Parts: sequence; structure tokens; C-alpha cells
Amino acid sequence: MNPSTSVITVRGLHFGYNKNQKILKQLNLEVPPSSIYGFLGANGAGKSTTIRTILGLLKPQLGQVQIFGEEVRFNRLSALKNVGALIEAPSLYRHLSGYDNLRITCQYLGLPKSRIGEVLEMVNLQHAATKRAKQYSTGMKQRLGLAVALLSDPEILILDEPVNGLDPTGIIEIRNIIKGLHQRGKTIFLSSHILSEIEKIATRVGIIKEGTMVFQGTVNELQQLKSSSLNVKVLVNDSQKVENVLNGSHKYQILDKNQIELTLEDQEQLPIIIRNMVNKGIDLYEVIPQRNDLEKLFINLTSNEPS
Ligand code: ATP
Repeated sequence: MNPSTSVITVRGLHFGYNKNQKILKQLNLEVPPSSIYGFLGANGAGKSTTIRTILGLLKPQLGQVQIFGEEVRFNRLSALKNVGALIEAPSLYRHLSGYDNLRITCQYLGLPKSRIGEVLEMVNLQHAATKRAKQYSTGMKQRLGLAVALLSDPEILILDEPVNGLDPTGIIEIRNIIKGLHQRGKTIFLSSHILSEIEKIATRVGIIKEGTMVFQGTVNELQQLKSSSLNVKVLVNDSQKVENVLNGSHKYQILDKNQIELTLEDQEQLPIIIRNMVNKGIDLYEVIPQRNDLEKLFINLTSNEPS
């Protein structure tokens, strides 16, 4: 992607909370306009640290963060003028109503009161506008936090684990609100440690592992990658004989005289190869699937969440 077309560009980011620590390492990412960018990573991978660096709350040791081409470290306020963010639990006035929470931010930002009704509707809280925030459920508080972030009508929304700690209904509600905001043309950057959650909502995905991006692409590309290659270890009486059966048509590595590792393009090839081996008189003792790094990563990112 041409960097000038992305709304958030991060290049060569290095960050540690102290001199000896390396939390972010040469991190690059690009968020295209009008996308829902799912920033995926296991707990502790560096998602929140990246988000805080994008928002100029942490200063990177090296690297650049640009929003609409403007460098955050040179002019934070101007670079972030089109950004709304919700990181951690929203800070609300608990004793005030949802409406009054929004009214205070409206006054502070010099925005017309008409925005309050509009954002309440966007997050489905019209019916609870007069209720005190302390009486809100966790999901409602999260939605009110989202409404606060939306007041200034930002073009980009940055949300750190927006469904964390919510019950299944709350998760679905936030997901639908995000989809609605996307349809209104907003670019949304959200983090999660749950692969299935990102697959359901994102148009583009970035995966961070130990402070480095290991994948960036569309959801389709991610799904293709997940199902692309399969490594299996085959235990046989004679590895050399297996070579003849494979006949140069598959990638393989002879591990020793009884073990060979095959790389298959897809799962369908496995029964064909096994049949050929048996037909050629090779004794087959075991077929063991081997997980590559990406597969191991996906397993870490998998969790049962509502569909
Ligand atoms: P999680 O989903 O668990 O919040 P994450 O991907 O958002 O994970 P970060 O919160 O960015 O990860 O943490 C990345 C690493 O930085 C972790 O090893 C964490 O312990 C460390 N870390 C985070 N905040 C601090 C801090 N204030 N001081 C020192 N180390 C920190």
C-alpha cells in the first residue's frame, strides 16, 4: 500500500518502558481509509503499548507515527484532531446521567448540544440517557465511553479491546455499533486477543507477536494463510523409499532413515500420498501433524466467543 493513502502509518517503531526493555521492535503498520483494522495479538504482545504510542501518550525510542500524514511527535494535538479513542475503561462521572456526561464533554470541547442526541443514538443509549452512569451495566458504560469519543465526530476511532469483559450480548451490541460506524464512513482501529472476534468484524488485520508485526493483510488473505500449508511427519520403515513415491512433486525433508517431513499444499494431498506409499509396499507407522509458528500463534489467539 502507498503510505500516503493510509490514515495511520507506523514505521520502524521501537519502544521499551525502560532502557533495557524491548517491548516494540521495528513495528510497522498501515491503516487504510474506511477500514476496520483489527489489531490482533496475545496478551502482553504489545497492543496497548502500540496504541498509546500512536496516541502520543508514550514516546518511542525510534520510529514514526503519522496520522493523515502528520507526525504525532511533532504536533500531537493537530495530528490527533480527527481521532477519537477509547482505551481502558471509560472515565465517566458516575453520579451523573449519560446525557450529562456527554453535556460536560460537549461544553469542554465547545460542541453544539445537538451532538448529544446524535451520539446517544449511534451507541443505542437514547432510552437510558437520563439514568445515572453508575446504574449502567458494563456494556452500557463502554457504549457511553464510545459516545464520548464520538462527540467531536472524528474520522478515526481507536479502541483498545472494546469488548473485553463484556457478556455475549454486550459483545454483539458493540460489534454492531462498530459496523454501523464503519458504514457511516469511519475508519476504525481496534485491538483484540481473540482471532474469531477480529475475523467477524475487521476488513484488514495486523497481527503482533512479541512486539513485531508478523502478518498484515485482508481477512481473506489471513484465512488463506491459515489453511494454506500443512506439515506432517511420517514414520516409515524406509525414508528413502518414500522419496521415490513423492517423485519430486512435493516438498519434503528426510529427518532420518525412518522419519520424513512433508509440506503439503492442502489436506487433500495427504490420503493420496499415503495410498501411494502403501501401494509401493512402504510400511507406515504414524502420521503426525506438525504445527508451524503461525499455527501455534493462531491457537493462542483462539477462544470461544459468541457468533
Ligand atoms: P494485554 O491484552 O494483556 O493488555 P497487550 O498486547 O496490550 O496485552 P501491552 O499491555 O502493550 O500488551 O504490554 C506489552 C508488554 O509491556 C508486557 O510485557 C507488559 O508487561 C509490559 N508493560 C506494559 N505496561 C508496562 C509498564 N507501564 N511498565 C513496564 N512494563 C509494561
